[in-house]
Amino acid sequence: MFSPVDDNADLSRRAEEMGKLLQRLFPLCRSLTGNGVRRTLRILQEKLPTLKISEVASGARAFDWTVPDEWNVEYARLTDPNGCVVADFAENNLHLVGYSEPVNRFLPLDALQAHLHSRPDLPDAIPYVTSYYQKNWGFCLSHRTRERLEAGMYHAEIRTTLQQGHMTYGELHIPGELKKEILLSTYICHPSLANDNLSGPVVAVELAKWLLSRPRRYSYRIVFVPETIGSIVYLSRHLDVLKQNVVAGFVLTCLGDERAYSYLPSRLGDTLADEVALHVLLNHAPDFIRYSYLERGSDERQYCSPGVDLPVCSVMRSKYNTFPEYHTSLDDTAFVTEDGLRGGFAVLRKCIEALEFNKVYRSPVLCEVQMGRRNLYPAVSRVGGYDGKVRDMQNLLAYADGESTLLKIAEKIGIDIFTCAGIAMELEKAGVLFEASRDN
Ligand code: ZN
Repeated sequence: MFSPVDDNADLSRRAEEMGKLLQRLFPLCRSLTGNGVRRTLRILQEKLPTLKISEVASGARAFDWTVPDEWNVEYARLTDPNGCVVADFAENNLHLVGYSEPVNRFLPLDALQAHLHSRPDLPDAIPYVTSYYQKNWGFCLSHRTRERLEAGMYHAEIRTTLQQGHMTYGELHIPGELKKEILLSTYICHPSLANDNLSGPVVAVELAKWLLSRPRRYSYRIVFVPETIGSIVYLSRHLDVLKQNVVAGFVLTCLGDERAYSYLPSRLGDTLADEVALHVLLNHAPDFIRYSYLERGSDERQYCSPGVDLPVCSVMRSKYNTFPEYHTSLDDTAFVTEDGLRGGFAVLRKCIEALEFNKVYRSPVLCEVQMGRRNLYPAVSRVGGYDGKVRDMQNLLAYADGESTLLKIAEKIGIDIFTCAGIAMELEKAGVLFEASRDN
């Protein structure tokens, strides 16, 4: 049986594990495809031995999209007219524009400028730039470095391969009592970037370890895909089973900083995932930031698209595209902290616990239950009414009609679902409440 966990020592241990895993994954050069993604998934598989890794060939079609060629990097360096290094992939993988094609050229600064990327508003940051679907090459560097470049001939040498290969993704099934599933989806395609991206997979791994360690009502499907193309490919191969079984899902992204909690709804905002996310956030982090689906940007774009319509929303810490460090070298292992990850993990775990508790109950008793006969009253009744807990018990019984979910009842009677679940267990023990129906 699931029980609400608020174990500080356990959470601290998990936060430390997540921090260590993030540090280990951080240096790898991930992209939509390539060996950095494979290495990342193999490291995740060390933590989750039943993680299944699949490959899809370049050129494979998925709905309106085609799996791109596989990209791998051997070497990339830009040197100035004096032979000094301006940008080196070996020093920071953000220096190279993602999916750069190979070049070996000497060119003057004027011509080079078209291939350079920097952020005048963040002069010390190296921006993260990609060119997946248009053949190009380029270097990213701090604006401060760029401004110091002198006229003359520069040497751009990029040794990459961009050819027929594979796109790699991982998935983990954790069976529960029910065939109905909770979907957790995260992505593994950003290079050395911490909040957007690595916080998502490390929280997903920790949630999986936690789920595997306890009994579960629902089954769980956890997918690690390159963003956009990966979720499109995954959906194109599993749409029927997902539509049949998924009752709620979350995109796990941006879960590691300490500044905020955020929520981005599903397309219509009316799914069970939205209901759970809002209930947990309102009770756990009431000053969370509420975004609109118009501000979407991750794989909910695919999961919520018309016709797919899976019940998927996002619960985040600081949302992508809103924090200044976003998609730059400043989104690093200092910006993401163990405390940040701990909060990200805790809020998602509460969402999952709320779903596990969200049963439908009924009482076998017609009319009001006689509480006193079953020792459900406090020994001494006070003047002016019952204490809060008795009132909550009676309220719960009043709405346990065989149709209302516990989540709906919790909202109605104004207490959180975790307290409600505790009360429901006591009432079950006293024989005045039972689970009315089960999903299968
Ligand atoms: Zn991103």
